[in-house]
Amino acid sequence: MCRSLAPELESWESNPMACRRIFEGRLAILVVIVAVLAFARVTHQTAAAAGSPARETIVYVTKTGTKYHVDGCQYLRQSKIPMPLSQAARMYGPCSRCRPPVLGPLFAVNAD
Ligand SMILES: [Zn+2]
Repeated sequence: MCRSLAPELESWESNPMACRRIFEGRLAILVVIVAVLAFARVTHQTAAAAGSPARETIVYVTKTGTKYHVDGCQYLRQSKIPMPLSQAARMYGPCSRCRPPVLGPLFAVNAD
């Protein structure tokens, strides 16, 4: 095991402590790498969670329409393009027939 870890150390058999130091040194490097990877993963997940909700509501738009719809609306017979609500709400209005969800303050305005 030690020979494979430190093939360049010819006298490892006569100096077990040197072998041990090299082994522990490489183990320490490995621990650091794992720690950095774990930290990077946590940082990435935090950024992703802050950037957008985990479960974005999906609504549907059509090729030619100016409204967005929920799944099953009759206006989706011609075309049906899935889109996150946050994106659809910026470019389309809510369909008056299927009443899709709307974003935040707009709900009070549109809920007549
Ligand atoms: Zn609709």
